[in-house]
Amino acid sequence: MWNIITEYTYLISIILFIMGLKKLSHPETARNGNLLAAAGMGLGILITLIFPMEGAPNNYAWIAGGMIVGGGIGLFVAQKVLMTKMPEMVSLFNGLGGACSMLIAFVELYNLEPGTSLGDGQGLTTLFALFIGSISFTGSLIAYGKLDGFLRDSLVLPAPQFINMGLLIVILGLNGYAMTLPGIDITWILILTGVSLLYGVTFVTPIGGGDMPVVISLLNSFTGLGAAGAGLIYGNQVMVIGGILVGASGTILTVLMCKAMNRSLLNVVIGGFGGGGQASGSSRDEVVKEASHADLAIQLKYSQKIMVVPGYGLAVAQAQHTIHELEKNLASEGVEVKYAIHPVAGRMPGHMNVLLAEADVDYQRLLELEEANKEMPSVDMVLVIGANDVVNPAAKEDPSSPIYGMPILDVELAKNITVLKRGMSAGYAGIQNQLFFGDKTKMLFGDAKASISKLIDEVSNA
Ligand code: NDP
Repeated sequence: MWNIITEYTYLISIILFIMGLKKLSHPETARNGNLLAAAGMGLGILITLIFPMEGAPNNYAWIAGGMIVGGGIGLFVAQKVLMTKMPEMVSLFNGLGGACSMLIAFVELYNLEPGTSLGDGQGLTTLFALFIGSISFTGSLIAYGKLDGFLRDSLVLPAPQFINMGLLIVILGLNGYAMTLPGIDITWILILTGVSLLYGVTFVTPIGGGDMPVVISLLNSFTGLGAAGAGLIYGNQVMVIGGILVGASGTILTVLMCKAMNRSLLNVVIGGFGGGGQASGSSRDEVVKEASHADLAIQLKYSQKIMVVPGYGLAVAQAQHTIHELEKNLASEGVEVKYAIHPVAGRMPGHMNVLLAEADVDYQRLLELEEANKEMPSVDMVLVIGANDVVNPAAKEDPSSPIYGMPILDVELAKNITVLKRGMSAGYAGIQNQLFFGDKTKMLFGDAKASISKLIDEVSNA
């Protein structure tokens, strides 16, 4: 009877996950989608606590302690985190998911009766969860360090492809051998865990620059697969399906990101591109043209079509509400304003969509890369706001550039370009941008939010 209740409740949880995932695919419904999926997870946890697995010891005090401490830290961090630090937090949480799978597999291996062989499906699943959970854990920590900037892309391993290939062969060999043993002891488990953790580090360290979005979504899918593996260990459907959903959606996102970066997955994973390219850019005697707020405001007001290109700097400046206000003011003057969204703008997949949705920007105004590029020639003014790499022509023109081959927003096709940024600093890929010195380009220096606020005033006075 209790089993049936548990199974049906799991089914409801799974349905909530799937409905949540579906809703997450559109900015307007994403918030509700998140709530639905969270409700599914809450239900799954609750029913597992009420009807624990047969033979499970009474660990309620430990579980309650873990939930209070973990939940408390999660709540605190989620409330305090700055929007600009969101990608780092997502990476950390992803790593913790991987750590959970690793620990579950570790404990299950550790608790095996002496002499139990791993040479069956259950053994394979447990070893898989240990391996994949370990990679997601240390790999996500390295990704966190890179996003936060305290681990630089210049940190290179000698011949990373060979190190990674060598480690992978060692891991496969160790796992294969473990499966042939009549029993496994703690030394084996520790060695397997240690080498898998090391692989997570060497796997992500050489990847950098423009390829980081791909590796982040790949790690996300690994975490899902790790959770699915952990679910298989316990025969828990809700964990298996939840993990598979994360793994599958992470894989789809990885493929889309690869497409957006014009890279094959193998190229990203084996190639270790992006970190060490040359800083292509300007010769020292090139000068930029500066724009003034008043002149730009007049130009904006008398334009027919304006394209906003948001980038990471928009998130740093928290200028999403301000740009929406400027957009509404211009729209009321009859100007058509659209936003060109590059798939890797910002620091996490969908970063710009999340920011603009938070400011209630009409989703209809958001154009994807290809659509936006088609419209560029008819645009009177492009406002590049805190974006850099995603509009860098080096991606098309300079084969030595670390972002070479990445499709970019072709803003130079527009009639005029104004770039809003604080100075001449490079973007994430660490390279100079020749666009800033172009004939059609003017620079409006300053924090994006402050600059847009001044523009709003000037537009209403113009
Ligand atoms: P970039 O990182 O290329 O450039 C951001 C620019 O914003 C900087 O040049 C900076 O210049 C400017 N900026 C920073 N703060 C402000 C501010 N307060 N006001 C105005 N400008 C500001 O951003 P893009 O979005 O163009 O490109 C994203 C990059 O991040 C790509 O290389 C991508 O591969 C990488 N990446 C993306 C991930 C994703 O999933 N989306 C994940 C990991 C990496 P200045 O300091 O002079 O103001």
